[in-house]
Amino acid sequence: MKHKNFIVNRIAEDVTSGRTPKVVLRFPPEPNGYLHLGHAKSIVLHDLLAEEFNAELTLRFDDTNPKKESAKFVNAIAHDAAWLTPRFTRTRWTSAYFADIHRCAVHLIECGLAYVDESDPETMRFLRGDFGRVGAASPGRALSTSENLALFARMRIGELAEGAAVLRARIDLAHPNMNLRDPVLYRISHVEHHATGKEWHIYPMYDFAHPIADALEGVSHSLCTLEFEDHRPLYDWVIEHCFAVLGARPVQIEFAKLEVEGIVLSKRKLHALVEAGQVAGWDSPVLPTLAGLRARGYTPDVLREFAVRCGFTKANSTVPAETLADCVRDILSPVTGRRMAVADPVELVLNNLAEPFKVEVPNHPTDSSFGTRHRTFTAKLWIDRADIRAEAEPHFWRAYPGNWVRLKHGLNVLIKTVEIEAGRIVRVVAEADIGSRDLKAARHKAKTALHWLSDMEAVAMPARHYGPLFDVDGKCDLDSVTRTKMLVEHGLEDAAHYEFERLGYFYLSGGILHHLANLKTAGARTR
Ligand code: ATP
Ligand code: MG
Repeated sequence: MKHKNFIVNRIAEDVTSGRTPKVVLRFPPEPNGYLHLGHAKSIVLHDLLAEEFNAELTLRFDDTNPKKESAKFVNAIAHDAAWLTPRFTRTRWTSAYFADIHRCAVHLIECGLAYVDESDPETMRFLRGDFGRVGAASPGRALSTSENLALFARMRIGELAEGAAVLRARIDLAHPNMNLRDPVLYRISHVEHHATGKEWHIYPMYDFAHPIADALEGVSHSLCTLEFEDHRPLYDWVIEHCFAVLGARPVQIEFAKLEVEGIVLSKRKLHALVEAGQVAGWDSPVLPTLAGLRARGYTPDVLREFAVRCGFTKANSTVPAETLADCVRDILSPVTGRRMAVADPVELVLNNLAEPFKVEVPNHPTDSSFGTRHRTFTAKLWIDRADIRAEAEPHFWRAYPGNWVRLKHGLNVLIKTVEIEAGRIVRVVAEADIGSRDLKAARHKAKTALHWLSDMEAVAMPARHYGPLFDVDGKCDLDSVTRTKMLVEHGLEDAAHYEFERLGYFYLSGGILHHLANLKTAGARTR
């Protein structure tokens, strides 16, 4: 067994015991928004299980609430899911089962297990009781089967107004689990459905539609997040009492939702930002949607690794944001070319460099298949302000007057002067040890190597650094995006990842550098 977690174990047991002849799984997004990082965890889990058990994996649009759903979301979800994994072998719509779900409802009414309730919502809520008070029957509970069938038929063809009636399961009004106190199975909605148009005026509730869709698709194990644990008895009730119609017994298994420090994973909250125009769209790189993460430069492999590292458990926990940065570094490092960039440039003048000269620089520290490139040393270079001090400081080994530093891949220089204007460092003058291109011939050892750019080869590019989008009070903080300009080597390709030496991982897209992660050791190594 390649993957290990409680769900793998559970399915393996069912396969071994013969209870599950064939593993069939589904990922069931509601098309009422874009997929986000939390959905990625669920998709990766399904993907791993499908691989492990050679299972069929369906992308099922759980489209039972036309008020909030649209074809735009269907398309975006299909695209993003396929981006993450090629393992979805079929696409289905809960709306395609409306007739079957309706048949199950009629079956329940005929069995005396469902009734139409015309109470107004407030009365219904009151009659259901609460944790300290058992529920009481509304008048509908006493209707005959034929009265219920007639009323349900009128609901279906649109004769009753929205909110005028619902179909409820007849289970137990005193049940300690509120989900079993005669839950609503169908509600009226006159909104046009993105797939079925005006055909239906009633729509099934999630708790009713879901087990039926699972059964119809031959789903063996129906995975969902922990907040549905209390709904499982209802899932089982529906399967049990509709078995005569459905002939299958899927089971529900719950796992913990992904929660990440500083990242809001709620379609409702993301929806509000998009609707209010606070972000350009669902695919804005500030959002933790898959489309936003893709725009920022996260790759499927990074998100996959992240999901696996977070683990699949039954206990909720919050993952540190740094785990995502760890995955960026670990996944991108072997497949990403190194380049140089300067985040906050200060001029460095080499006062004894008569002629520019070229050096050959590897594009990757360990993988020679990345090839090499040429970089030119000119008398005017750029280095990072963070690497400069006006005078010596304890434990600071970089550029200050009198100190030797190495310019990476090049030569050693002795810092002569650090010029300051209006309290700000504006220029550094240094003398190059021309012979030190061969380290063994260096006149002086340098304790540290600085990244640099030649004036001739530097291009300015806008960069974005992303912080938490919501502050501690849950309010959206769009100032969390820091916009800077960086100098980078010329000749970078668009839609490509780069590790800028000492600065971290960036994704260049549309002429903008999106910051993905710092280098883990940046601070420690360069002091
Ligand atoms: P949201 O709370 O953001 O609206 P949702 O659960 O309502 O999400 P659905 O489209 O209904 O969104 O979810 C599709 C599947 O993705 C569900 O099976 C759900 O359990 C799973 N899922 C959603 N959010 C997470 C998350 N944070 N971690 C893991 N799985 C998730
Ligand atoms: Mg939902």
